[in-house]
Amino acid sequence: MAELLTLGIVITVIPHPEVSLLSGEETDTNSDLMLARLLQMQYDRECDTQLRREERKYNGESKVSISFENYRTAHPYDGSESSEDEVDWQDTRDDPYKPDKPQVTPRKGFTGKGKNITTKHDEVLCGRKNTARMDNFAPEVLVGDGLGMDLKLSNQVFNSLKQHCHSEQRRSARLHDKKEHSTAEQAVDPRTRLLMYKMVSAGTLERINGCISTGKESVVFHANGGMLEEQPVPEEVVLKVFKTTLNEFKNRDRYIKDDYRFKDRFSKLNPRKIIRLWAEKEMHNLARMKKAGIPCPEVALLRKHILVLSFIGKDHVPAPKLKDTMLGAADMKTAYYQVLQMMQQLYQECNLVHADLSEYNMLWHQGQVWLIDVSQSVEPSHPHGLQFLFRDCTNVSTFFQKRGVAEAMSVYELFNCVTGLDLTINEEDEAEFLAQIEALEKRNEDHVQKRGKKTFPLSSWDGSPPLKHAADD
Ligand code: ADP
Ligand code: MG
Repeated sequence: MAELLTLGIVITVIPHPEVSLLSGEETDTNSDLMLARLLQMQYDRECDTQLRREERKYNGESKVSISFENYRTAHPYDGSESSEDEVDWQDTRDDPYKPDKPQVTPRKGFTGKGKNITTKHDEVLCGRKNTARMDNFAPEVLVGDGLGMDLKLSNQVFNSLKQHCHSEQRRSARLHDKKEHSTAEQAVDPRTRLLMYKMVSAGTLERINGCISTGKESVVFHANGGMLEEQPVPEEVVLKVFKTTLNEFKNRDRYIKDDYRFKDRFSKLNPRKIIRLWAEKEMHNLARMKKAGIPCPEVALLRKHILVLSFIGKDHVPAPKLKDTMLGAADMKTAYYQVLQMMQQLYQECNLVHADLSEYNMLWHQGQVWLIDVSQSVEPSHPHGLQFLFRDCTNVSTFFQKRGVAEAMSVYELFNCVTGLDLTINEEDEAEFLAQIEALEKRNEDHVQKRGKKTFPLSSWDGSPPLKHAADD
C-alpha cells in the first residue's frame, strides 16, 4: 500500500490493476497542474486557518471586533459550489465568454480627406486591427500583453499566427480526446480526480482508499468520511463515480428519458449533465427506499456525478453480493422472504421498480439483504416499467429456485404478488403473460396522453382515475 503525503493531504492508494489515482503515469502536465492546485489550495487553507487564529487572538473578548476577512485567500478551487463554474462553464453550449462582434471597416473603405486620407489598406491601421483581432483567438492561446501596446501586426504575421492557433487547437482536441478515453477506460478522468481530491481537501472525506468495483457505468471507491457542514460523514463510505463517457449510458437512455421526473430536463442537457442526472436519480430513489425502511445505503452527499454513500460492510471489507454468498438453507429462505417483501415495498410504498434487480445488486450484510444500484429504477408508470419488473421477477425467481429455496414462487406468481395485479397465468406461455403486461402499459400510456397526467399507479388499476403519487423526495 503506497501512501503519499502532500502537505497534510493523505491519499492512500491501494494498488489496483485497473485503477490509478496517483500512479506513475501522473507525469503529464495535467496531473502536475492538478497537484499544484491542490498544494496551493492546501497552502491557502492553512494561511486562512492561521489568519482566523490571529483574528481571534487580536479581538480577544472585545465587544467590537475587527474582521480579517479581506485578507483571506479566496482560492478559486476551494471545495465550495462557487468552483462549480470552473468545470461547468466549459460544458455549456452558450459560452459566456464569447467575444464581442468584431469591428468592421467602414463601407466606403477610407476615412479623412485630401492629403489626410487613410484607406482600409493603411499599414498602421491594418497592423493595429490585426493586433486587436488576437483578442478573438481561443482563450487558451496566450497572446501576452501585446494588446495593451501599440503593436502592429502585418497581415502575413497575423495569418501565420492564426494558422498556428488552428493547428494547435486541433492537436489539443485530439490529445484531450485520447486522454479522456484512456483514463475513463482505466478508472476516472482528471476532472473527476480533481473533484475527489477537493472532497479530501475540504475535509468532507478524510481519505480515499482503494477501488471496490469498476463497472460499466460506475467506479466505486472506499473512503473514510470527515466532516460536512459541521456534521460527521459516516466513518466508512463509498464514492460511486458515474462514468463520464457516454458509450455505456447510451443504451440506458430509456430509463431516464421516459421517466417523467427527469423527462423535461433530459432534452435540454448536454451529455455530461445527463450523467449527473443518473447520480441524482439514484439519490432520489435511495431516499424513497430509506423512507420505506428498505435496507439500502444512505446518501451522504451528491457532488456532480459523484455520489457518496454509506458503506455496506465493515473494516474496508464490502458486504458480499448475494451471488457470492454461501448461505445455508435457512438463511437463503430468510433472504428470499426479505427480497419478496422489499420488492413489494419498493413497488407499493416507494412507487418504484428496481429495473436491475438481481443477485448482483443485493448485498448480504448483518443477516439481511441490502438493495443497491438504483440509478436506473423507474416508477411503475414508466412506459416499460412493468416489463422491467417482469425481468426483475425472472432474475429473483431463477436465482432462489436455483439455490434450492422450495418456497420461491414462479416468475408469474411473483409478478402478481409484487404488483397486487391478477394477470392470468399460464406457466407454459410467457408470451401471453408479456402480452398482458404490454396491454397494461399501453392502456396507461393512452390514459396519460388523454388526461395529460404524468403518473398513474398500476398496483390497483381498475380503470378509475389516477391517484396522487408519492412526491419526489
Ligand atoms: P454498478 O452500476 O457499477 O453495478 P453498483 O452500485 O452496483 O454500481 O456498485 C458496484 C459494486 O460496488 C457493487 O456490486 C458492490 O459490490 C459495491 N458497492 C456499491 N455500493 C456499495 C456500498 N454502499 N457499500 C458497499 N459496497 C458497495
Ligand atoms: Mg450493480
